[in-house]
Amino acid sequence: MTDTSAATNAAADTTSPTVHFIRRIIDHDLQQPSVPFAHIITRFPPEPNGYLHIGHAKSICLNFGLAEQYQGHCHLRFDDTNPEKESQEYIDAIQKDVRWMGFEWTGPVRYASDYFQRLYECAVELIGLGYAYVCDLTPQQMKDYRGTLTEPGKNSPYRERSVEENLRLFEEMKSGQHAEGSRVLRAKIDMSSGNINMRDPIIYRIRFASHHQTADQWCIYPMYDYTHCISDALEGITHSLCTLEFEDHRPLYDWVLNILRAQMPFNYLPQQIEFARLNLNFTITSKRKLKQLVDEHLVSGWDDPRMLTISGLRRRGVSARALRQFCQAIGISKADSVVDMGMLEFAIRDDWDKHAPRALCVLRPLKVTLTNYPAEQVESLSLSRHPKDSAMGQRIVPFSQTLWIDQQDFMQTPPKDYFRLSPGQEVRLRGAYVIRCEEAITDASGQVIELRCTYDADTLGKNPVGRKVKGVIHWVSAAHAKPCQVRLYDRLFAVSDPEASAEADGKNFTDFMNPESCQVINTALMEPALIEALSADDLTAEQPTVWQFEREGYFALDQVDSKPNHWVFNRTVTLKDTWAKHSG
Ligand code: ATP
Ligand code: MG
Repeated sequence: MTDTSAATNAAADTTSPTVHFIRRIIDHDLQQPSVPFAHIITRFPPEPNGYLHIGHAKSICLNFGLAEQYQGHCHLRFDDTNPEKESQEYIDAIQKDVRWMGFEWTGPVRYASDYFQRLYECAVELIGLGYAYVCDLTPQQMKDYRGTLTEPGKNSPYRERSVEENLRLFEEMKSGQHAEGSRVLRAKIDMSSGNINMRDPIIYRIRFASHHQTADQWCIYPMYDYTHCISDALEGITHSLCTLEFEDHRPLYDWVLNILRAQMPFNYLPQQIEFARLNLNFTITSKRKLKQLVDEHLVSGWDDPRMLTISGLRRRGVSARALRQFCQAIGISKADSVVDMGMLEFAIRDDWDKHAPRALCVLRPLKVTLTNYPAEQVESLSLSRHPKDSAMGQRIVPFSQTLWIDQQDFMQTPPKDYFRLSPGQEVRLRGAYVIRCEEAITDASGQVIELRCTYDADTLGKNPVGRKVKGVIHWVSAAHAKPCQVRLYDRLFAVSDPEASAEADGKNFTDFMNPESCQVINTALMEPALIEALSADDLTAEQPTVWQFEREGYFALDQVDSKPNHWVFNRTVTLKDTWAKHSG
């Protein structure tokens, strides 16, 4: 299901938080005669194995947003049970991204690894109660014993080990006496359960890996499902929100906590609630696959402006405000769907239309000489920074005899409804005069290299008398314009579902990347006021500055590749939805 209609509604509802099914659950909980908690506590639990992406933005807005709406708390907890795949770089990037989104967690940054000792004690408790056992089956045997969706599994021959033997073996695992992969600790639940997650899931495995938080203190590491519910309970999380693929894991979440209830510090247990993950067409939202793009150098890094990581979106020029607005517009539900990329682009465009100052930048210059304009004269025109927001003020744009316009705004032999420049035709220069093309000069190959035009001195700020001029084009003064590099970004993938296309054709999802996703333009010329106002400070600002280059789109200063005197601008989004006709 592709949802484009919601884009039209996105602008309407900017402030009031939508009442979705999770809010209804919380409202219901808070109305109970004796609510066991004083305020709600949610958590955002990323695994530090990559940078956050647009899907995480949805989860961040939900978890931190609910805490704000109900005056509760939201914890940031790193789910760090896979030391080989995790790193401090990711931990730092994730914190930066959450803060940039405009949220702050309650208390310290938390780590599942803070609870390794408690988790170990809980495992010992489970063993003592006869609810966990050490199993020596090989991974392949374990698979064979597990059964299938239609067939029940078989009990492991190690399932009936005595409590004493289990305690001894688990202790030996902890102290490094058994080889990696030789044994695991499993919960003893039900090998014939219809839910495969309940067929004696592994809760601990041996890994001789150094951990970014606990170094070499542990060589047994708890599994995600076991860790997550206990971490939630230890922190007093009231509502543990996760994506739908965890629905089948909820019985395990509840099973572990019910057995360990007496060990837990609060007189209530967290409830897991699932919501639909964000899927967006023309992109991928999987850290593993995004990492593949980075590792294979198919993008310039995690913050490549074409990546839908939070850091890529930020570098591209997307504001946190627009991302939050987008998350609000897509809503929270239990039904899986695919959101149209056009909706994200709509939110970005809508945001910058209100907030971005305007500027003139010619990407592919074509020389214009005004034959009747005094050669030495320079006029300082005052143009508003924003057509609808006078508080943004004015800027000075110099006007002179020799100008640059864009090559795409001239046609030697135009079609009927062409309102830009062609021989004998008039056009208005944005914020300046009406000019008429008298002659197009070509080089030996027939290429137009210069336009000789006349200007109508009586058209500054007013319409010409007796005729209508429909077209308006952008321009810069040749003697004053400043060079810059402009990158025209487009969608990273050429097909709407790269993973499905890869599967259908027996290819890799990377085979479906859009070869036109980055076009570098080195000929661009910018009005001087904008460039002159830039300084090294702009390269360290929390959010890159964004302008609307008139008639071209919204552009952000690239903070990574720009240097004073070598300014690079990234196209954040086009002015119009140029994809609607393709994907519609
Ligand atoms: P990935 O598959 O990209 O690694 P993940 O779910 O493994 O994603 P985590 O770091 O475990 O990534 O995710 C942290 C939180 O963000 C989890 O609660 C998860 O449910 C949520 N989340 C991840 N992807 C999405 C998504 N596409 N839409 C909504 N929430 C998401
Ligand atoms: Mg995960």
